[in-house]
Amino acid sequence: MNMIPNPPAREGGLGFLYLPPYRVFGTSIAGEATTIGIPELDICFDLGICPRSMLAMKTVAITHGHMDHIGGLAYYLSQRYFQGMGEGQIVCDARIAPHIQRMMEGYVELERQATPFKLIPLRQGDEHMIKNNIFLRPFEVEHTVPAFGYSIVEKRSKLKDEFNGLPQDKLKELRDRGTEITRIIEVPLVAFLGDTAPGPALVRDDVRKAQIVICECTFTEPEHKDRAKVGMHMHAEAIAEWLRVLECQTLVLTHLSRRTNLLYARKRLGDLAGPQLVKKIELLMDHKYNKEKYEKQLSDNGQLPERLAKLQARGGPGAGAGGPGGPGRGGPPRRPMR
Ligand SMILES: [Zn+2]
Ligand SMILES: [Zn+2]
Repeated sequence: MNMIPNPPAREGGLGFLYLPPYRVFGTSIAGEATTIGIPELDICFDLGICPRSMLAMKTVAITHGHMDHIGGLAYYLSQRYFQGMGEGQIVCDARIAPHIQRMMEGYVELERQATPFKLIPLRQGDEHMIKNNIFLRPFEVEHTVPAFGYSIVEKRSKLKDEFNGLPQDKLKELRDRGTEITRIIEVPLVAFLGDTAPGPALVRDDVRKAQIVICECTFTEPEHKDRAKVGMHMHAEAIAEWLRVLECQTLVLTHLSRRTNLLYARKRLGDLAGPQLVKKIELLMDHKYNKEKYEKQLSDNGQLPERLAKLQARGGPGAGAGGPGGPGRGGPPRRPMR
């Protein structure tokens, strides 16, 4: 049996889910900050702020230029360099690449020194390899500013059907004669939708068939449908409708507003999607729920006693629930949700 890996070091109430074989962690609160890492794929999506544990991610894919998605980018690049971790690599929408470049040039003047980094502008239809045979693929989504979603696709070579069952020496003979005996199949691993209104990107094959889909759901209440529309965000009703065509194992919802009561959100999603489909949904920032889920995973794997002993040695299980669902601040925001 495989060992379940540890969550990242607790800092500032990061959300964490273990969705085998991937860890998904980070923070995501609408209008405040979104940054989500998947260490197994060496990638981080967006950097609204830069928690220490994000520094280890080699590639950062930026969805769009709103401050809650990009505010920690310069800091990430500077810290990586400062700590001798090598230059950071930023993948972004070619439409916003010049603006990121200019932002970084501004820092050169402010700091009187240059932070080396690599900017990789992409267009819809491009692919960028992040690991062996694993590719990041951007696509345009609908938001109030130019915005990308990304799919991560693994390309595996598979024996063509007509050669199935042939002995090894026969296959070698065919290969030696120059016959192409394999074909490439694509396995969508993860799809990440940053801020987006419902649109055609949601039903792309590499999104619909991805094992894990991570998407924003900024609004859940029926009376907030207009606000979702104005800010070009997802609403729970659109999520429920979409879930009917998604083939994913898990849909991770992010970007809920701080005012959202997570118990209410879960119940509402259940009412809309039904008891079966709602089981696919996880809320990244539901710390209490996710902690229990992770402990159950450890316990089912026979690892819980060992883990608890470690925590006790450190002075009790890490508290730090925090996150959304805190006290409401009341009143509408002064500008549309970013
Ligand atoms: Zn946002
Ligand atoms: Zn936005």
